[in-house]
Amino acid sequence: MTTNRTFTMLKPDAVDKGYIGAILKKINAAGFKIVAMKMTRLTRAGAEEFYKIHKERPFFGELVDYMTCGPIVAAILEKDNAVEDFRVLIGATDPAEAAEGTIRKLYAESIGNNAIHGSDSNENSEIESAFHFSGREVFSGNFF
Ligand code: UDP
Ligand code: MG
Repeated sequence: MTTNRTFTMLKPDAVDKGYIGAILKKINAAGFKIVAMKMTRLTRAGAEEFYKIHKERPFFGELVDYMTCGPIVAAILEKDNAVEDFRVLIGATDPAEAAEGTIRKLYAESIGNNAIHGSDSNENSEIESAFHFSGREVFSGNFF
């Protein structure tokens, strides 16, 4: 149940530049099904909570400023081996090190403003999904 889902956010830089459609197209083309999605904005307290594992890092203040500077698109994605496969699809944290064809290589501008988030474990995928969505907002299965 949990192993086939991951959580993503299209970050403010990607939304601002008009990349929502292009990035979602790549996500679907890679075999991920979108089972929850919304455009929203993180509060400062929300961004601090979401990224609390990084609170001692030197970039934490900038990260919170950036993640609250504009709207994001949050989504839950389903696919076999979702967490690992999605990390491959988005590429390395620093777009300069990201492989050709990855979302960060194509759409990120810097290690800070790097276009997209992907959960790093099944456990964090659950925590991050629950942070943004209630069970009622998640649409799994076939409807036709
Ligand atoms: N980040 C940054 N500077 C760094 C490392 C990370 O600004 O040196 C930001 C970047 O937006 C990154 C986020 O902090 O996506 C979380 O960092 P993490 O190491 O978890 O990278 P990710 O899992 O997003 O690849
Ligand atoms: Mg991370």
